[in-house]
Amino acid sequence: MTEGDTDWVRRRVIRAPDDGRTDWVTGGADSRHPGSRRHPVPFRLLAISFALAVALAGCAGDQPSIDGTGTITIAGATLIDGTGAPPVEDAVVIVRGDRIEHAGSRADVSVPEGGEVIDATGKFLIPGLVDLHNHYRDGLEVWSWALQLHAGVLTVRSLGSDHGQTPAMIDEARAGNVPAPRIFTAGVGFSHPEGFPPGKLGPATEEAAREMVRELAAQEVDLIKMWVDTFLDTRPKIEPEIRAAIADEAAQHGIPVAAHVFFENDVWQLVDAGVRFFVHGVRDQEVDDEFVAMAQEKGLSFAPALGQAKTFWWVAEHPELLDDEEFRAGIQPAAFERLLDPENRAAMLESESTAKRRVAYDYVTKFVRRMNEAGVVITVGSDSGAGNIAYGWGTHHELETLVEDAGLTPLETLAAAGAAAAAELTDDPDFGSIAEGMAADLVLLSADPLADIRNTRQIDRVMQAGVWLERGLPEFPLRE
Ligand SMILES: [Zn+2]
Repeated sequence: MTEGDTDWVRRRVIRAPDDGRTDWVTGGADSRHPGSRRHPVPFRLLAISFALAVALAGCAGDQPSIDGTGTITIAGATLIDGTGAPPVEDAVVIVRGDRIEHAGSRADVSVPEGGEVIDATGKFLIPGLVDLHNHYRDGLEVWSWALQLHAGVLTVRSLGSDHGQTPAMIDEARAGNVPAPRIFTAGVGFSHPEGFPPGKLGPATEEAAREMVRELAAQEVDLIKMWVDTFLDTRPKIEPEIRAAIADEAAQHGIPVAAHVFFENDVWQLVDAGVRFFVHGVRDQEVDDEFVAMAQEKGLSFAPALGQAKTFWWVAEHPELLDDEEFRAGIQPAAFERLLDPENRAAMLESESTAKRRVAYDYVTKFVRRMNEAGVVITVGSDSGAGNIAYGWGTHHELETLVEDAGLTPLETLAAAGAAAAAELTDDPDFGSIAEGMAADLVLLSADPLADIRNTRQIDRVMQAGVWLERGLPEFPLRE
């Protein structure tokens, strides 16, 4: 699509050329976004402060009585607040406007009179899911976001592939003109000029890299993304000095950096350059104690995208997925057609690259397990929009895979898609957990996700900013 094809392009946009050259164009008006760029409060501190708040509330003795006029009260559910705190049975959550006015045990507050009361006995309430790793396609944004809303994914981070109308659509979403999750974005990310994925920013010199970061800063991106990977030894990696220039310039503008990594030695170099947020993880070897200590000391976080890593064989091994309505609805029809063909599925299983990917998967699942056990922050980032990762479905698949393959508990996993992920997006998040003052972004489940993490898909209702959403799987948009 060219710029002339759309009215949407009316803001300052960095466009990386499709032919991989390093010249790029900017144009348009301005942009606004809700993100903050300061560094996040460590998730564990948040958890402690919530625990203290709950304890203090419990000591108060008298039940606050709340005027229910204009409120929605969800009463009787088991509350899983997204911080990793233990669940609260028979909870009362009171929503006023777009905020949570109260959340806690029924023993602490009576159900207010005058408002709407939802009897949620036997149900489970979790925060709207936060997914830190998504790619949106030019022209498919509205469809993608509808799928995510349907799945209770209410906060997303677009990780470095905003092309065509996508930046303008993100503006529309932020302005409330298009139904969408809360969106943070890296704009267009960095790779080697001949690297992967194609069409990204590929500065040839440190000064060019700095200039591109300054341009992204002028666009008010929420973070900077870089890909540091050879893609199974098929592509050159962005050079260390270019990475360092990007990270340094980003730091000067107060913008965090998230790096896609594969090799352990790149993580060390990037940490030296000031990077703290990573997607994927170490996939070339097992890390040692020195690495673990460094990750703890530097406060690193990893959004491993395990579900995406598995995608190269998972569907072929589980063809029943092709009958899963939500999987099917969230994947592009052409990709789905390819998966339907048994020959293609057999080829997925037999390919040499799949064999290499299985080895890498073994390393990365061990890596995530080790990081989690060491208290290093693990977050949910599904890589939805990449490969066979269906929007919406992909986030739940990542939750499941973190439990099944990396040993996180369901409670930890819900924190990884809750307060831990939110803390990576902004230093004082008002989303990602269920507590007084937080955004009323809620997912009511009809089955217990702590008993089986796959129950996060048993969605009864989704509330976004205090409004119950009308859920439904959208049709794939046919383009003219
Ligand atoms: Zn990605």
